[in-house]
Amino acid sequence: MTKQEDQFKKVLSHAKEYGYVFQSSEIYDGLSAVYDYAQNGVELKKNIRDYWWKAMVQMHENIVGIDASILMHPTTWKASGHVDAFNDPLIDNKASKKRYRADVLIEDYCAKIEGKINKEVDKAAKRFGDTFNKEEFLATNGRVVGYQEKINTILARMGASLEKEDLVDVKALIEELEIADPLTGSRNWTDVKQFNLMFGTKLGASAETAMDLYLRPETAQGIFVNFLNVQKTGRMKIPFGIAQTGKAFRNEIVARQFIFRMREFEQMEMQFFVKPGTQKKWYDQWKETRLKWHLSLGMGAENYRFHDHDKLAHYADAAADIEFKFPFGFKELEGIHSRTDFDLKAHEEFSGKKLQYFDHEENKSYTPYVVETSIGLDRMFLAVFSNSLQEEALENGTTRTVLKLPAILAPYKAAIFPLVKKDGLPEVARKIMDDLKWYFNVFYDEKDAVGKRYRRQDAAGTPFCITVDHETLEDNSVTIRHRDTMEQKRVKITELKELIQSEVAVKNWLQRM
Ligand code: ATP
Repeated sequence: MTKQEDQFKKVLSHAKEYGYVFQSSEIYDGLSAVYDYAQNGVELKKNIRDYWWKAMVQMHENIVGIDASILMHPTTWKASGHVDAFNDPLIDNKASKKRYRADVLIEDYCAKIEGKINKEVDKAAKRFGDTFNKEEFLATNGRVVGYQEKINTILARMGASLEKEDLVDVKALIEELEIADPLTGSRNWTDVKQFNLMFGTKLGASAETAMDLYLRPETAQGIFVNFLNVQKTGRMKIPFGIAQTGKAFRNEIVARQFIFRMREFEQMEMQFFVKPGTQKKWYDQWKETRLKWHLSLGMGAENYRFHDHDKLAHYADAAADIEFKFPFGFKELEGIHSRTDFDLKAHEEFSGKKLQYFDHEENKSYTPYVVETSIGLDRMFLAVFSNSLQEEALENGTTRTVLKLPAILAPYKAAIFPLVKKDGLPEVARKIMDDLKWYFNVFYDEKDAVGKRYRRQDAAGTPFCITVDHETLEDNSVTIRHRDTMEQKRVKITELKELIQSEVAVKNWLQRM
């Protein structure tokens, strides 16, 4: 097993063991690519959602939120293009009977070449030491330049073929590159086919009158169809945004990466309506703003990168992903898309209703352009969780498992322990708990030795542990231990609230943006 696979396995088992994520319907052996959030997971997920909402809605006067339904009028999906074009290119391996996304097989092939580039860089960095200039090396080293050109050629050809729906060429590319089934090594492939990812369902009691519906594959369309309602009732002036978080459903072809690719997942999307012609400026600005939001969480700038799309969706004039370094490599975490006026125009056409904005300054009506930011909440959860899970070697030769979640996102902000279960210590600890729970989610634990309780909270991701001991009875002081530094300090009970607050105040985190 590679180091990456090993780390990913640890993430999965830790998520289960510490009550973050369970397989859905586990007692029936689970449902593939569907997961449940457990007692700690639901808190982490909520905190990520709140952090996004705070940054996107509360901090922007010109962005408001909505909560549209999962079920929408079926014509929505005709207009949006999802009925005709929400397809993934599918390919089956005849020998192994495994199903793959053809584009992902090719992208993974390129990722391997990229791995070779990284190896060359590491080798050269060692050889040249302090004088090593990475940019120069990437631009001039013959072997590396060759690798990069190969990647560019492959991706450009794939992008062009997918754009033209030339699936024969996508298969030809897989064959030319001699891509084999990663599980069995077989190169016996079927043709590439398109597969629509929407889940269908029915509305209505009788079979004859029932209406065919879809579970929404993205939250964005709920925003577009409400564009004019919100603009009018909220007296919104362009540029303005509408934000939404909620479930989306996709019948994904390949779903083998835990909560990275699920069939039921949650999106956090914001559609920003702008004057036609200004979309490039806003697209660049939202790319920058969204990256800053990620960086504010302190998970390491080196773990993020932009990826500009080679293949644009049918609605876009520019698109980029913010990619994150997951345990299985750099992958899309968030998309920023310049969607033009495609959606509003399409809904106008299909509904026969005008969806235009009257610009008082210009004294004319127009269909706004849209810049979208779209992030998967579950993917963000996986990014945070996998990045935070660390094995740390301690000075005394032992190791500890610690989940270094950004404190603002941690399910519990503090755990409170009486040193022993007697002498009135539990009562004092309970009293502290009762005071603090008005402000923070806090946890009480009196079982096992304190060292063991510390370790449990380290692994669960709780930033602070507060221990009540016999001295507390005399001078109202307690020990507060910090998860990351393991440093212990003696403080007054009355100081606790402020101390925790300083570390979990949303203002302190978002101000780093
Ligand atoms: P991918 O290329 O990985 O399939 P996408 O480009 O289809 O993703 P978008 O349609 O742009 O994704 O959706 C926006 C965001 O929603 C993605 O950046 C991702 O974070 C999230 N997302 C999309 N599909 C899934 C899924 N099946 N499971 C979890 N999150 C998802």
